[in-house]
Formats: sequence, C-alpha cells, structure tokens
Amino acid sequence: MIDSEKFVIVFLAVIRVRATAAPLNPIFTQEEFEFYLFDSESKLLLTNKKGNDAAEAAAGKLGILRATVDFSDPSFDVFIDLLSASGCCGKASVDRVFNDASDVALFLHTSGTTSRPKGVPLTQHNLAASVRNIRMAYRLNETDSTLVVLPLFHVHGLIAGLLSSFSAGAAVALPASSRFSASNFWAEMRAAGATWYTAVPTIHQILLDRHAAAPEQDYPKLRFIRSCSAWLPPAVLAGLEAVFGAPVLESYAMTEAAHLIASNPLPEDGLRKPGSVGMPVGQHMAILDEDGAVQPPGTAGEVCIRGPNVVKGYKNNPEANVAAFLFGWFHTGDVGCMDDDGYIHLVGRIKELINRGGEKISPIEVDAVLLSHPAVAQAVAFGVPDKKYGEEINCAIILRKGAVIDVEEVARHCRKNLAPFKVPKRIFVAESLPKTATGKIKRQMVAELFVLPAEESKAAA
Ligand code: ATP
Ligand code: MG
Repeated sequence: MIDSEKFVIVFLAVIRVRATAAPLNPIFTQEEFEFYLFDSESKLLLTNKKGNDAAEAAAGKLGILRATVDFSDPSFDVFIDLLSASGCCGKASVDRVFNDASDVALFLHTSGTTSRPKGVPLTQHNLAASVRNIRMAYRLNETDSTLVVLPLFHVHGLIAGLLSSFSAGAAVALPASSRFSASNFWAEMRAAGATWYTAVPTIHQILLDRHAAAPEQDYPKLRFIRSCSAWLPPAVLAGLEAVFGAPVLESYAMTEAAHLIASNPLPEDGLRKPGSVGMPVGQHMAILDEDGAVQPPGTAGEVCIRGPNVVKGYKNNPEANVAAFLFGWFHTGDVGCMDDDGYIHLVGRIKELINRGGEKISPIEVDAVLLSHPAVAQAVAFGVPDKKYGEEINCAIILRKGAVIDVEEVARHCRKNLAPFKVPKRIFVAESLPKTATGKIKRQMVAELFVLPAEESKAAA
C-alpha cells in the first residue's frame, strides 16, 4: 500500500526493530485484506498518505490501528514511536544492534496457486540464510545492479531482487510504474546500469513479444537473466538467450524456503541444463516416496528440503503442517527427480498431477506440447472428473495475436506429439487465464471457469 521506495525504507525499519513486516498486495479487495490482516495478526496497518479504502475498511472492521507513512520527520522517530505504541515492538528493542535469529521478520502468504494461501512466518535467520544462498549462487557483488520488476509482497522480488542485492552491496532500481511495462523496461534497465534481472516466465514472454513487435537497436549486455517461480518453456529460454545475448539461469524457489531452493549455475560455475531447475543451493534436498524413503537418481518422488532458510511451520494451519513437515523434511508438494549430475527435473505439483485411470500425467508435459504449436501463446492442461477414468485431461489455450486456427489442428498436433492417453479430450480457447499476482496460472481454477460452464450449457441444451 506504500510506494515502492517508501516501502523499502519502512520494510527495513520494521525488521530492524524486531517487528514483523507483512507486505500486502494493494489491489486486494476488502474481504482479502480482512483475511490477510487477520491471519497475520497485524497490529498496525501502514498506508500511503492518500490511503487505500479497502485496506482501511478491513483494518477498521478488525479494530487494527491505522497510520500513514509520513517522511517529513527525517529522524524517523515518529515512525518508530508508532510501531512501539501499536505493540509491534518494544521501545527498548529499537536500540538493539542485532535482532534475534528467531524473530519473525517477514510474514508472507504462499501464492495460493493450489489452495487458500498459507501463512509463512520467516525468521531473521531464514532471511539471512536465503539471502546468502542467492548472493553466492549468482556471485552478486558491488558492481552489480538490477531493476526489480516483481512485486515486493512476494519472496521473488523482495528477497531475490532486493535483499540479496543489498546484502551484496549491489544496486537496486525500482520501476516508475508498479504495473510491469515492457515498453519502459529496457530504458529503465539502461538507466539503472543493470547487470542482471530476475522475473517470472510470463514477463520473459512479454519481453520477447515486445522484441518481435518493436525491437530495440541494441540491448544492454547482461551478466545473466534469471527465471523463477514457474516452469520456463524451453522455447522462451532459447528465445531470451538468442535475442538478449545473456545466459538464462532457470531456478526453483518457494515462499516456505524464503525463496531459492535450486538453480542452474552461472556459465563459469557449471553447465546449464534446459528443462532442469538446476542444483540445490545452500540446503539439503532429497526425493522421497510416500513412506519417506530416499529415491535414487532418475526416480520421481516428492521434492523435500531442509536447511536454515526453510520455515519451521505454517501459522494457523495445523493440517498443512502435519502434511508438509514429515520425517524431518519439509515436503514441497512438487514432484521431481534428480539426475546423475544432481540436477533437479520437476514433473509438476502433486495436487495438479492428473490421474487418468491410474496413469499419472504431468500437466506440464502437455502444456509444453501445446506451446510448441506456433499459434499457441499460453496453454494450461488440467484434470476433470470422469466417470470412466476417474479423471480426464482437458486444456485451455490462448492463441497468438492474429492467429486464426481450427482447434482440430491443435488437437492433431497433440495426437502427433503425445501418447494417446495424454491427449486432451477437450480444448477450450480462452481470452485470458486466471493467474496469481506473480503471473502463475491457477490450474484448478481454469477447470472451474471453463469446464463447469460448458457442462451447464450442455445440460441446459
Ligand atoms: P500455494 O502453495 O499457495 O499453492 P505456490 O506454491 O504457487 O502457492 P509459491 O511459494 O509462490 O506459492 O510458489 C512455489 C511453487 O512454485 C513451487 O512449489 C513450485 O511448484 C513452483 N515453482 C517455482 N519455481 C519453479 C520452476 N522453475 N519451475 C516450475 N515450478 C516452479
Ligand atoms: Mg506452494
């Protein structure tokens, strides 16, 4: 709710005084604000001077103290007094030089891709460990600079973009607009003297589309481009490297790990493997079966992690805790396997795997085939209940601008490139797809949006 630059200062001040920061997406509805403010047990809502009606109404309903951020007092004492008066921190703690490792510094929710977002209390220790891992993985140093185009209310932008740069003494620039703008991107990168950037695949794709429509004379020379938070289609990876001339490092991260879990290395440190999310960084990882037995290389199982960056448990969510913290490992809910070189290959999320008559299908594999059709811009495969097979596979696609094709042609493309049981039974052509704030497609919601109305209109006919 606060302008980005102010947010950075407020965020650092809050975590400096042993209080907990719980940044929220300013475009939430009042109902969403109520959920997040309640779940985080917030004591104080900070907004810009011009405020945010929905957030303030939610805080009012919950009886939470509200205040605006005013930077007219250069000493910042007023702000610290406010934090202390609201019970967010003790007055004495303001003078402490070090926080306690176990203090919860950052309270975030997971993206809510597969279920209601889960509250993740990240400690100072979790953040310090994660920031160190990211800094080491990409050799961030004082000569680096980045433009943080991702929102600061998720770990990707906040920890990978901002905090790890700060910890390396590197520079950070924030875009003029909070909405991602492909037309401003390269000018702002140049102005920042950026040496790298990190983004989600959706943003990389937008940048490639922009290049196709209006190429720049020449692009700044980057040390690397990083992709994370969702599966990166191989064609996008190849396109980025070809057009922008920088190595693309796909990595794997989640809120519960304070971001980074695994990454492909910089060219000087090893081999990049397209289709793999790279090797674990700064934490232990094992691929486990349902009984907790470690699986050998090449065998798929649940990706499990443990390490100083990993949260100890969700807040207010005993069921999720029982399911995720087992055998001394945090269970990520992702299915993957490790190859002989120690690289991780993700297959998909357990909740999203499609079980068609006992045959487990990775929707990502089907997405990849759909996306390899030149007319398809976005694709998402998902399971729907089926009398005969238990689950059947359907998909939704968005066509590229100007593409006019027969859906049967896409179906033919699938039949040519997929085993018969993996071919989507129905293909829906969509104008847009439901996504999280970081651009991840909500697979299960797609089923509700497309399949249920289709069934209803069939029943009504
Ligand atoms: P929720 O847990 O609420 O359903 P979420 O898992 O999307 O939401 P995040 O913590 O933001 O919330 O995202 C972590 C997840 O994102 C991982 O568990 C994984 O499924 C996915 N992910 C991250 N990086 C990649 C990647 N490179 N390729 C594929 N999936 C990825
Ligand atoms: Mg998750």
